[in-house]
Amino acid sequence: MPTPTLRLNNGVAMPTLGFGVFQTPPEETTAAVAEALRVGYRHIDTAAAYGNERGVGEALSQSGLRRDELFVETKIWISDYGYDETLHSFDKSAGKLGIDQIDLLILHQPLPSAFERTLGAYRALERLLADGRVRAIGVSNFMPPHLERLLEVAQVVPAVNQIEVHPYFQQRQLQALHARHGIVTQAWAPIGGITFYRPGFSKSTLEDPVILGIAGSHGKSAAQVMLRWAIQQGRSVIPKSVRPARIAENFAVFDFDLSADELSAIDALDTTQRGGPNPEDVTLEKFGRVIPEA
Ligand code: NDP
Repeated sequence: MPTPTLRLNNGVAMPTLGFGVFQTPPEETTAAVAEALRVGYRHIDTAAAYGNERGVGEALSQSGLRRDELFVETKIWISDYGYDETLHSFDKSAGKLGIDQIDLLILHQPLPSAFERTLGAYRALERLLADGRVRAIGVSNFMPPHLERLLEVAQVVPAVNQIEVHPYFQQRQLQALHARHGIVTQAWAPIGGITFYRPGFSKSTLEDPVILGIAGSHGKSAAQVMLRWAIQQGRSVIPKSVRPARIAENFAVFDFDLSADELSAIDALDTTQRGGPNPEDVTLEKFGRVIPEA
């Protein structure tokens, strides 16, 4: 059965549920993505900075699926920001992925200390879109001030902003801003992966008694409940796993519904505390590693 899709603001259909590969080691990536495609995922989220685009590309080409059955998303890293640099970065990613056209290409982070370079990178995405090299463009980890500065000058409203969203960190104000501009909220760490190893959280989302209670009453897992909560609220989700049983579990989220009370109970778990780095702290000096040519 095909996965439900979300309609992006330029009309492109994106599978609501995608498969993430952050921290998936390059040597395990082909097997993980192949398993996801076997289970039924059709949307893969990778990034130049993950170092595993080649492994994703191998799984895509070995899958026997037609290119138009697949939705491939990747991200430009900050060291490749600037108009010419980002155009070249597209070539690097497309080459590693083994495809001519990328379905969704996004900027991985704002670079607040060099915002002109961020804007130059976005102009390159607009060029790639106009040339048909990408089908949709967007951003990631943009906070309201970054998005507002971008919207002042952009020709194309981003189709998505991929941000940290899970029950313990929900970014409701930012989600409301997205809704006003027709930007899809794409949730990274949708099952709260970042809460598993961050000392700032007293427990992981997987152990939350409210989520476990709801899961128990549906005969589902905590991870499935978190994905369902996001999907019912209109978000795109991209859970990651390298384990076949979990890859299948995270896909089995279209056969049950959470009630309005259950959705509200999860809404009430927001701690407003992020697990990932504050986007304001991301600088080239700290994070500007080079993305290899091949
Ligand atoms: P997730 O919320 O997807 O959680 C992943 C973690 O949960 C892994 O440790 C995985 O381990 C474990 N896991 C997966 N499924 C289950 C399950 N059913 N039950 C219990 N544990 C489970 O977090 P991520 O940080 O990976 O985020 C998802 C994707 O979002 C990334 O892969 C990436 O594509 C994207 N992302 C983007 C960022 C950005 O800055 N734009 C930042 C972070 C992520 P195991 O693999 O061993 O199963």
